[in-house]
Amino acid sequence: MTTLAPLPGDAHHQQVLQDNLQAAARNKAQEQPVRSRLYPGRWTRRDWAHGSLFATLGVLVVTLVPGLSQAMRDDAQQPQHDLVTMSLALPPLTAAQRNAQTHDNWQLVTVERGQTLGSIFASLDLPASTMHRILELPDAKAKLTRMRPGTELGFDLATDGSLNKLRYDRSDTERVELTVSGDAVAEQVIERPVEIRNVVISGKVGRSLFHSARKMGLSGANINTLTDEVFKYDIDFNSDVTQNDRFSVVVEQVWREGELIRTGPVQAAVFTAKGKPFSAFRYEQDGKAEYYNADGRPLKKSFIRMPIQYARLSSRFGSRRHPVLGTMRMHKGVDYAAPTGTPIMAAGDARVQFRGVQGGYGNTVVLDHGRGHTTLYAHMSRFGNIRQGQRVSQGTVIGYVGTTGLSTGPHLHYEFRVNGAHRNPLQHTMPEPDPLSGAALAQFRQQTGPALARIREVENIIYAELPARPDPDRQVAGAPRSSNDRG
Ligand SMILES: [Zn+2]
Repeated sequence: MTTLAPLPGDAHHQQVLQDNLQAAARNKAQEQPVRSRLYPGRWTRRDWAHGSLFATLGVLVVTLVPGLSQAMRDDAQQPQHDLVTMSLALPPLTAAQRNAQTHDNWQLVTVERGQTLGSIFASLDLPASTMHRILELPDAKAKLTRMRPGTELGFDLATDGSLNKLRYDRSDTERVELTVSGDAVAEQVIERPVEIRNVVISGKVGRSLFHSARKMGLSGANINTLTDEVFKYDIDFNSDVTQNDRFSVVVEQVWREGELIRTGPVQAAVFTAKGKPFSAFRYEQDGKAEYYNADGRPLKKSFIRMPIQYARLSSRFGSRRHPVLGTMRMHKGVDYAAPTGTPIMAAGDARVQFRGVQGGYGNTVVLDHGRGHTTLYAHMSRFGNIRQGQRVSQGTVIGYVGTTGLSTGPHLHYEFRVNGAHRNPLQHTMPEPDPLSGAALAQFRQQTGPALARIREVENIIYAELPARPDPDRQVAGAPRSSNDRG
């Protein structure tokens, strides 16, 4: 039996904590078993990193931080909302709490793939004439004739089974209620205010990073950002990470009526592994968001070494006997053997210079990365969804492994050229991406400073003051509060 720490002061903060705990409990309830995405029956490195074991114990810390976009405007003297609260386990939702979340008269229908308003009306034995009357309203017609799977509709049915009311969400903040009486349909728009909260979520990896992080309220997309994007160059999540390593992440949460409806992208993150902290900050420039380290250097390398995952290097760069022609020839690239259909990724941000058939290379893509760098991908079975001249970003799937052209079996032939000269992509020193400088760097520091300070504050509180192995049965007497907490 575990016990919640008593909460600090005011009702608003209690509500914030309660909301996060409930959202985290819902996250956990929604977890699906991890399945291999690339090859059925074989786990990818990422699957191993995410794992399937449940973390037994996590420390949940939620603190409000000023919005990153707001940070620039905030006066340093202005009181800030701080909340540091701990819990040693997440309480399950009680049946009473769950029931309180659904309105008695409303029958909620979640639209499934292929379902239309017509088929939903039919399944509820509602007459099509009522539906047509509803669809005479322009807003209802726009919203209800093309519904995405997952859209939620509410039906309020009379005791005789006829439709009293239909409701749908026009946007995050507006709900529309249609009241049917006879041939008339009355429309009422209900405002539903949303609250945006910037929170720090911090915890230890435990037995599985994925489950610990989900349990604490990070979205699956947030976790992928950490493992597959920002820290993938510095941390091998397969072998470098241990149970006691920890993560602290700043995200924006959108709440409505006590419900977490959306978690935004990772704004800032510190991952402590191999005994040192690695940090990442999101910064938008020219409408494009990238992650940078604390010094304003892009975390993304300009080129990834292997444009294909989980493949075997089958032929190196240099002189060799040609496998088809049988003569000694210079091999101007490297070959990766992989099953037909394995996705091939753009090695770096680029413009598509060529997409088509190129003699013995078969289906070929050439990318121009600027500054004299080009890459070539040959023998593809088919192309990705790209056009000549289009800009692609690093990691975009540009095609699939095949054996078109002069080739003995499915593989990717990959070439790397600098100013027209072939280089060995496995040995060439790749150019560093440009760091932020001048006004952009100043703005970056102004935006990221407060987030980093808050992460440090949270980490100091929970990791410095907690006993190394908290006893799960121990009752926590009081939650430590940050020194400048003004409520
Ligand atoms: Zn080759």
